[in-house]
Amino acid sequence: MHTTFFTRKLTKNFHFALLACASLVFSPLNTVNAATLNASEQADMSALSKTALKSDLSYDLVESLTTEVGPRMMGTPGDAKAIVWAVEKMKNLGFDKVWTEEVTGTQWLRGQAEAKITAPYPHNVVAIALGGSVGTGEQGLTAQVAHFENLDALKAAKPGSLKGKIAFVSYKMSRHIAGKGYGAAVGTRVNGATIAAEKGAVALIMRSVGTDSNRVAHTGVMRYKDGVNKIPAAALSNPDADLLVNQLKRGKPVSFYLKLTASIEDEQIIKSANVIGEITGSESPEQIVAIGAHLDSWDVGTGALDDGIGVAMVMAAAHHISKLENRPKRTIRVILYAAEEVGLLGAKQYMIDHKDEVKNHVMGAEWDFGVGKIYEMTPRVGASGLNAVRDLSKYLAPLGVTLSAKNNGRASSDMGLLTDAGMPSMRLSADGSHYFDYHHTENDTLDKVNPKDLQQNTAVYTLFAYFAAQAEVDFRK
Ligand code: ZN
Ligand code: ZN
Repeated sequence: MHTTFFTRKLTKNFHFALLACASLVFSPLNTVNAATLNASEQADMSALSKTALKSDLSYDLVESLTTEVGPRMMGTPGDAKAIVWAVEKMKNLGFDKVWTEEVTGTQWLRGQAEAKITAPYPHNVVAIALGGSVGTGEQGLTAQVAHFENLDALKAAKPGSLKGKIAFVSYKMSRHIAGKGYGAAVGTRVNGATIAAEKGAVALIMRSVGTDSNRVAHTGVMRYKDGVNKIPAAALSNPDADLLVNQLKRGKPVSFYLKLTASIEDEQIIKSANVIGEITGSESPEQIVAIGAHLDSWDVGTGALDDGIGVAMVMAAAHHISKLENRPKRTIRVILYAAEEVGLLGAKQYMIDHKDEVKNHVMGAEWDFGVGKIYEMTPRVGASGLNAVRDLSKYLAPLGVTLSAKNNGRASSDMGLLTDAGMPSMRLSADGSHYFDYHHTENDTLDKVNPKDLQQNTAVYTLFAYFAAQAEVDFRK
């Protein structure tokens, strides 16, 4: 189903208009270079900042999404509700065009998880199936635990050495403002089951990819490799991983019971949709400033942080811009991607559906990380684009955002595919020190959202989008 709520006009072959002569107005913020924006646009930037910093809209949106919809994993009723929710909200917020584009995938069902250490010291533990895992069968399985401190140690295990055993990787993710600990930890989640299965293991258990000390486990996507036995995979809460390590330290055999009733329903094709809304440009409507987030979430928690605040922020940013007296010069396109969590399915579909239009994406940014304030912007633009970005940074500096010395910013998550296809991009880095306390858990709920930070971050996205829509520069060049 490809539902068009409004007629969509895409100009396929456009020629980048000759840049209008540079404004003669000098920014009060910069007495050296000609300002990118003219005086009335500068006034708009100031007004937009004030509006976004006092508006409750983005908080109200994430409150509405988490309260009226809740969890929204692809293929669940929550996912379908979220699509209806987003279309309705965008229409009510005054978007000029709103439509959906179908995304398909296969169904995975989480089922129930039960886990316990059965010997030498029996304890029930908190576990969760990794997204995409097979089940254990109703009886569950009990096996001796083979301990590895990290994924490399598991990789180094001799073939066949894990025959009949449960592989346990206890690597603990470290806390970092930019979430740098995630990369080192997530490999076990994604590939650990396949590596363990290659050595003969019957299941994989791992310490959650998370920085908290709650008795809550973190889910997230995992993958199997064709031709390798599919074994069940689960994450343990951090304190339960500690408990298991402590039992293993005693040098006695440790046995573990795991039951997952998860199942992969390969034959069942499920449908979701990217939801797209636009504030149509008044001068170059075919030129797109893209701001995005993913609409889906995992089925635990209510997806407030991942990625409800992103959804709220980009919708509110476009709304604030729509309330200006005039439409922006370029189109502002809000893309709410489907099925990010289960493998960027919405983003991949968008690249197919819009392949002829990628060149018209003049600038883009996604929000899919962090819980605190945005503190840094990292562009990925051409030389003349960089001059404009320096100018933009002067508007964002009062909001606490500094310009990175690097020019290699890839847009987050879904929109990274557009960056890879040549779209000039901006990475707006937010404080993620506490993001992985809640990420992919039952604790990803509205109370973790700080309304003040959300206002600040919405202001940043609003100013970024408006600036990119008005700047008479080709950010590619
Ligand atoms: Zn996300
Ligand atoms: Zn996520």
